[in-house]
Amino acid sequence: MVLGIPFDANSSWLRGAAGAPPIIRVALHSIAANLWTETGVDLGAQGMYCDAGDLKFTFEEPFAAIEKNVGELLTHGLRPVCLGGDHSITLPIVRAVGNRVPGLTIIHFDAHPDLYDELEGNRMSHACPFARIMEEGAAKRLMQIGIRTMTGHQREQAKKFGVEVIEMRHLPALERMKVEGPIYISFDMDALDPAFAPGISHREPGGMSAREAIAHLHAITGKIVGADLVEFNPAQDNTQMTATVAAKLLKEILGKMILN
Ligand code: MN
Ligand code: MN
Repeated sequence: MVLGIPFDANSSWLRGAAGAPPIIRVALHSIAANLWTETGVDLGAQGMYCDAGDLKFTFEEPFAAIEKNVGELLTHGLRPVCLGGDHSITLPIVRAVGNRVPGLTIIHFDAHPDLYDELEGNRMSHACPFARIMEEGAAKRLMQIGIRTMTGHQREQAKKFGVEVIEMRHLPALERMKVEGPIYISFDMDALDPAFAPGISHREPGGMSAREAIAHLHAITGKIVGADLVEFNPAQDNTQMTATVAAKLLKEILGKMILN
């Protein structure tokens, strides 16, 4: 079940990611491509997946609203695929998933470890979600892939929380994607090299090609119980290239989830 989460208030540098979900949908349904995944799933076939539209924020505290809405999908036996939004939304999503699925492993694609204890006084910043998740025990295991911005503080945090960090310079790591048990995929678009995906808030050179990202997604073996695709910032995407790449990744993630 696709759910858009148009929220970017915890972005430390640029806003804009809140505008991503409808643009990813347009790119996914563009007549310039078809809806078949590389793995042979036709997402255009009746009932293959559903789209709940975008979460509407009202009077409720945003994280509480996200956790509640994702929790409702899970209660109905649906597996959420959330379109961000900045990366802070992963915390309430994983709270909802972790409460219902014990023994969760997160596979986190990102240029950044997002393990800061706080950033500019904000403990809910998009630079912090994985510190909160590990403190709360919302996931059993955290694997990060594509990392290339480690600081001393975040290295200590990774050690403290037992995070398995696969740095970008050590790719490929296809064998390490063979994980047992329930898996949650958190995909930050800046895991990709900005040459492939310039429409992001924090451009970090030396990242994955679209092919490397897809190959590592395809190599995941366990049951995928949920996913998010975050940090696509349409305001930075002058050629609509990043929208196309985000739609492609969404397609392959949905295809993997349907196959397993
Ligand atoms: Mn991130
Ligand atoms: Mn990032």
